[in-house]
Amino acid sequence: MSTPEHDDPLTDVETIVVGAGFAGVGLGIQLVRAGRTSFVILERADDVGGTWRDNTYPGVACDVPSHLYSFSFHPKADWSRVFSPGAEIWQYLRDAARDEGVLPHVRLGADMRTCRWDPQARRWIVHTSSGTYTGRFLVLAAGHLADEKLPDIPGVESFPGDLFHSARWRHDRPLAGKRVGVVGSGASAIQIVPSIVDDVSELVIFQRSAPWLMPRRDRAYSDAEKRMFQRDPASRVSVRTEWFWNLEFNYAARRRLEPFFSGAKAVARAHLASQVPDPDLRHKLTPDYELGCKRVLISSDFYPAVAKDNVTLEPSALSRVDGSSAISAAGNSYELDTLVFATGFEAADPPFAANVYGKDGRSLAEHWAGGMHALQSAGVPGFPNMFIINGPNTGLGHNSVVYMIESQLRYVLGAMDYADQHALATLEPDAGAERTYLAEVRQRSEGTVWLEGGCRSWYVDPGSGELTIIWPDFAHVFRDRNSVFEPSGYAVTGAY
Ligand SMILES: Cc1cc2nc3c(=O)[nH]c(=O)nc-3n(C[C@H](O)[C@H](O)[C@H](O)COP(=O)(O)OP(=O)(O)OC[C@H]3O[C@@H](n4cnc5c(N)ncnc54)[C@H](O)[C@@H]3O)c2cc1C
Repeated sequence: MSTPEHDDPLTDVETIVVGAGFAGVGLGIQLVRAGRTSFVILERADDVGGTWRDNTYPGVACDVPSHLYSFSFHPKADWSRVFSPGAEIWQYLRDAARDEGVLPHVRLGADMRTCRWDPQARRWIVHTSSGTYTGRFLVLAAGHLADEKLPDIPGVESFPGDLFHSARWRHDRPLAGKRVGVVGSGASAIQIVPSIVDDVSELVIFQRSAPWLMPRRDRAYSDAEKRMFQRDPASRVSVRTEWFWNLEFNYAARRRLEPFFSGAKAVARAHLASQVPDPDLRHKLTPDYELGCKRVLISSDFYPAVAKDNVTLEPSALSRVDGSSAISAAGNSYELDTLVFATGFEAADPPFAANVYGKDGRSLAEHWAGGMHALQSAGVPGFPNMFIINGPNTGLGHNSVVYMIESQLRYVLGAMDYADQHALATLEPDAGAERTYLAEVRQRSEGTVWLEGGCRSWYVDPGSGELTIIWPDFAHVFRDRNSVFEPSGYAVTGAY
């Protein structure tokens, strides 16, 4: 079934993937390798890369070491640093998509507008900004940090200067000599601040709550190390494995297990004390919630940057704007030329969900009105032959999201193989099986710092108060639990 809207030879395919970040490109690689070459990857932007294409702000880098924050099945020996800059990660994804034969399947500038299950044809119909596609399977790999969140600040439209989100950095608006306000003190802000502090004339940080910060043990890899990783793949695997298990230890602190919890707090407090001698500033930078409740950040240059003479740490949120005055919740007013919103993403409520309609015509957003959920974090009752990668309960606060994505790729490929082996037309998660899975997730969540750490974070659904973003256990437990497709949780129809 082809449509007259475009001359794409691949309009009726086995698999339609939405999104070309780590998840979409990773799935593309596995589909090609499995010989399942009837697929398209629909990407609204003009290149692959997802997070790493969009976030180009000064200082952007991963905070999970690159040898781990990359595909195990497409390794790179010559990462420049332990924590590589964003541009290098973006280039890695572009190279991987090209080298693995994924690019011919990618449709750029194809913004998914609606996905509808056609119960008669038992296929998905996907309308995009550049044409319509039909497919047997739909895989949503649209990310949960892909749509930036701009807080509703009264008067912001009256601001005469430049104003942009950290994920849409305006490189055409140099900050040299400007009075700049950075709104937020999360993962992006702590990378931006040290990178711009010496260029700007004044810098005001609007900090609603102080982050927990650990030292960043970054360094460049030497040429000798890169050669070793190239010549001896076992050395690369061993670095990756070592990092993985080191980071798994951090989960023990999120469960508030001793001595890991106290030990982690002691490291963070010592880091603050050693980098910020001024007691007033140190007080402002001391978190008022438990370690791990919000993402624990790593930086060795944020505190020294905040201590510089041209920086003001405003210990309250930006509450309104009046012309060029940015006024904090505490009532302090600052005259600024530029406002940078490092305010995060629409994580709990992903916009794509409003446009995906299941077999009873209800949207995924309606289905998720009480918060995101899915069987084995991948399949949704009422949405046959559909899988989500990096969706509900897959986020991590302590290890590599790419590891989680790879676990889910195995699951999705497993489901496809099962459908083929049994000549099935549809696979649909059973609501009872999903309830059992969610009860298990809830039980794992109990006692974690995310629910009981005394903070408000994007990991928790604001409506239900449930932990819907994060996987509340060790990453390897997710792989054990969720990388194998379990047919018993699915209702099936035959005769494909
Ligand atoms: C600044 C930053 C730093 C991070 N650092 C780390 C880190 O160090 N370690 C870690 O584990 N995680 C990190 N993360 C989390 C990161 O998002 C994930 O690790 C990973 O990149 C997610 O990949 P993804 O493919 O699931 O989503 P994305 O990379 O967000 O890709 C989703 C893609 O879907 C596309 N899309 C969305 N909607 C549509 C639509 N309607 N139609 C067509 N296309 C659509 C988007 O344009 C995007 O290209 C970071 C996130 C950010 C924002």
